[in-house]
Amino acid sequence: MLVVMQAHATEEQVRAVCERIDAAGYRAHAIPGAERTAIGITGNRGEVELGVEEMPGVAEVIRVTKPYKLVSRDVKQENTVVRFNNSATIGGHELAVIAGPCAVESREQVFAIAERVHRAGAQFFRGGAYKPRTSPYTFQGLGEEGLRIMAEIRDRFGMKIVTEAIDNESLELVEQYADVIQIGARNMQNFSLLKRAGRTKKPVLLKRGMSATLEEFLMAAEYIMSEGNYRVVLCERGVRTFADHTRNTLDLSVVPAVQRLSHLPIVVDPSHGTGKRNKVTPLSRAAVAVGADGLIVEVHNQPDKALSDGMQSLYPEQFEELMAQVRQIAAVLGRTIFPIRADAHVLTSAPTQVSPQPVAQ
Ligand code: PEP
Ligand code: MN
Repeated sequence: MLVVMQAHATEEQVRAVCERIDAAGYRAHAIPGAERTAIGITGNRGEVELGVEEMPGVAEVIRVTKPYKLVSRDVKQENTVVRFNNSATIGGHELAVIAGPCAVESREQVFAIAERVHRAGAQFFRGGAYKPRTSPYTFQGLGEEGLRIMAEIRDRFGMKIVTEAIDNESLELVEQYADVIQIGARNMQNFSLLKRAGRTKKPVLLKRGMSATLEEFLMAAEYIMSEGNYRVVLCERGVRTFADHTRNTLDLSVVPAVQRLSHLPIVVDPSHGTGKRNKVTPLSRAAVAVGADGLIVEVHNQPDKALSDGMQSLYPEQFEELMAQVRQIAAVLGRTIFPIRADAHVLTSAPTQVSPQPVAQ
């Protein structure tokens, strides 16, 4: 159920409705919109009788027939923009470009890559410290040491850090260092991890499971939001099909499908979506053209020596070319991409000791 407040409803009136819902043993989620605030009710099975229709400031009470509520455009008509304190956004006018290696392998490796993608205009830097690998015998990531290196990158270049939590245990550490917590395709239906991610203060980048339907994808986001974290970014990264010319089939049609049903931003990962370096730039162009809110792209300074996903990692100069191309396409859609930092210089010299970031923002 959804309580729609009147356009001029006061904060006290919104609070009173939330208190009534909470007192009845349900959970109220007040989601402010440009025109009016809507209050989603979770924790109920079916319709509940709360008598909120008669409360001051209430416009109407709507039954939500879709299985997801908080992710739905019924709750919030305008797009959600996830904002960061250095003015970077995901879901806003400027496209979010997230670039970096699949995995953090060494300090030298990530610094070499970060310098290049930063100069090309990336506002976000990716790199896994915890890697969900198909084989237990391949590189599993540097763990907390990798997170510390990522924090150094933020301090030095000012880019926001996107890194994956593979389970509840790693999330405890990841949330202390990351600006955005990635939940991988293999974990899209790890419900305890989704609920835990819903209780963190950091935004979550949720990747689509490799065989997930649109509804399952949105329900996974609903798990996070139902726990009170409304800063969720969806990510299409390809699904399994019979096609074997690519690692996965990048389902770009899901972008407008998501945008029709949900207010959440959606970015596209053409690296895992194709698995092949030579297809990453063409699919990036297509992703921007179809209306994605950003890209997450794997870049490596020495892809042949990469400890994971080298085949799909771009060389830095290929990433620069990708940026030049998608900038032109973004302009057609009236969107922008952060400019090349021609005179890029590092903010400070790399600190030797980096302390975790406070979780609360
Ligand atoms: C990754 O981003 O490196 C990754 C493992 O992605 P996915 O979960 O989409 O496979
Ligand atoms: Mn990868």
